Amino acid sequence: MAVIGGGNSALEAVDDMAKIAEHIDLVSVTPLTGDQVLIDKVTPLPNLSMYLEHGVVEIEGDTFVESLTIRDMKSKETKKLPLAGIFVEIGLLPNSNAVKDLVHLNKVGEIEITCSSETSVPGLYAAGDVTNVPEKQIVIAVGEGAKAALQAHRYLRRL
Ligand SMILES: Cc1cc2nc3c(=O)[nH]c(=O)nc-3n(C[C@H](O)[C@H](O)[C@H](O)COP(=O)(O)OP(=O)(O)OC[C@H]3O[C@@H](n4cnc5c(N)ncnc54)[C@H](O)[C@@H]3O)c2cc1C
Repeated sequence: MAVIGGGNSALEAVDDMAKIAEHIDLVSVTPLTGDQVLIDKVTPLPNLSMYLEHGVVEIEGDTFVESLTIRDMKSKETKKLPLAGIFVEIGLLPNSNAVKDLVHLNKVGEIEITCSSETSVPGLYAAGDVTNVPEKQIVIAVGEGAKAALQAHRYLRRL
């Protein structure tokens, strides 16, 4: 397997996969940027090879992925890694453009909401990955969506 990325998500993916994968190649364009506790946990793994300051050139395969070609950003040398799967863990950008001039966003562009799903605009509620609620998961987004809808209903009833 390969994990692409060098932050906490990538390190957590390596930690999860190390128990089941024969070998993991971690490929990151930067040095590791995750929390030190995760770096200390994964770095000694016997089935991990790290290619830091390496970029992805190509993902090869027919029906399934078969290899990954990477390039050392300093020496410019390329290397082909045979593998059976790739996890891309390079972060997410919240798609909050439509409301960027309307509601308050945090520094990474997520819509800031209260625990009652309220944005900075009265009567406007938000839910899911686009908000500052931690953990981007389906079950959480669905629950947050239900909360926001109930709050919107309550707001209208009060009017
Ligand atoms: C590769 C990948 C794998 C994942 N695997 C898992 C998993 O195994 N388990 C899990 O629980 N979660 C997983 N997730 C996370 C999960 O997909 C999200 O947490 C969840 O989809 C968030 O739901 P959401 O409704 O907040 O956002 P989304 O599902 O992104 O829905 C937002 C919707 O809004 C629409 N939209 C955007 N802008 C506008 C606009 N201006 N006007 C109208 N509509 C607009 C979009 O088209 C989209 O349909 C994964 C995510 C990715 C990217």
